Amino acid sequence: MTVRVRFAPSPTGYLHVGNARTALINWLFAARAQGRFILRIDDTDAERSRPEYAAAIDVDLHWLGLAWAERVVQSSRLGAYAAARQALGATGRLYACYETAEELETARRLALSRGRPPVYDRAGLDLDAPARSRLEAEGRSPHFRFRLDDRAIAWQDGVRGPSHVPGGSVSDPVLFRADGRPTYTLASVVDDIDLAISDVIRGEDHAANTAVQIQIFQALGAAPPRFAHHALLVDASGAGFSKRLGSLSLRALREEGVEAMALASLLARLGTADAVTPEGDLAALTASFDLARLGRAPARFDAADLWRLNAELLRRMPFAAVAERLAAIGLEAADARFWEAVRGNLTRLAEARDWWQVVRSDITPVREDPDVLAAAARLLPAEPWDETTWAAWTGALAQATGRKGKALYHPLRLALTARDSGPELKRLLPLLGRVRTLARLQGPGA
Ligand code: GLU
Repeated sequence: MTVRVRFAPSPTGYLHVGNARTALINWLFAARAQGRFILRIDDTDAERSRPEYAAAIDVDLHWLGLAWAERVVQSSRLGAYAAARQALGATGRLYACYETAEELETARRLALSRGRPPVYDRAGLDLDAPARSRLEAEGRSPHFRFRLDDRAIAWQDGVRGPSHVPGGSVSDPVLFRADGRPTYTLASVVDDIDLAISDVIRGEDHAANTAVQIQIFQALGAAPPRFAHHALLVDASGAGFSKRLGSLSLRALREEGVEAMALASLLARLGTADAVTPEGDLAALTASFDLARLGRAPARFDAADLWRLNAELLRRMPFAAVAERLAAIGLEAADARFWEAVRGNLTRLAEARDWWQVVRSDITPVREDPDVLAAAARLLPAEPWDETTWAAWTGALAQATGRKGKALYHPLRLALTARDSGPELKRLLPLLGRVRTLARLQGPGA
């Protein structure tokens, strides 16, 4: 069987790191099996879905490098859901219910307060035709639930191993709302059948849905796919991520300067016992990906890990890979020499601008040790300069002043860069050039 997976976000907010992890896990799983990764936009909730969020999902996945083979939008598949309604209706397992949301909530609270599981009492099943007409005459329109079998539902989970949900512990799911629209619960199954999805890989918050959906697959005469439920991602305080709370969106991380591969490198290994290593492309992550390595404990996301990977990836990045992006932040004139000098000192690419300013614009040098600086100006070699110039110059300076180590280098660094630390001076020096170097050593009016 060809592996076909789907990532199925609801366009009700911006994708967050937890969503990105689900998408990546699906993508890597498909890539590993040479299967297909399908993007499905779950927009059956018309009130909360927004086209701009759907568009942002495309942008975010594209940025992460997660290309999709097909893109399916649920709101354009209403005909398929209507056909499923007919088919389920014919099985006799769809039944009309008339409770309002408030009534259901009251019943739920009551059940909980009596120590019972808050499972729907199937009152709708007891309504005969006259009773239904009376309710409709009151102005109520029915929504439709699917009558579950009360047997335990078991499946072999790709992450959790043998799994089951006891019979009677889940409410009969609503499959069609009072306005006739299908719910996610139904639409997802119909799509998974029509798209020949082989593996449904999603967060463990969907395990109860799986129990219900397996029965719907069967009622529709289809074999259920394989299921895998990964543990959820939590933040450093142990709290989960949510689109509604707007937590840690991909777009925010991107705007802050996170490299897509830093995020992918982290998310691919979080929740496994494997070390998180910076990988330059998805192929490297694919090679080592295995669903079975995901643990059952919540995976902890720590932004500090992300920035460490970011710095590490930038440090390894060749100039060709960043030339366009440097130009886009105003550094059209930056060249490989500049990039190779500064890349080891960046946490985010945009910080290259600070170093560009150091080598190309006016800064206010910090002149702490006039004697050393005066001698340094005197001994400054003639151009042309290269990376050996620094050693020759500071060697002569050490002899002339009797200084060495930090006592020699630190005043030079402060004068040349106005910063305490930074890229190797032997690399910055040729970028600065003699005129600028001399001016910084001598100060204004010299
Ligand atoms: N739209 C659902 C969600 O965002 C999809 C769940 C699934 O993968 O079936 O949670």
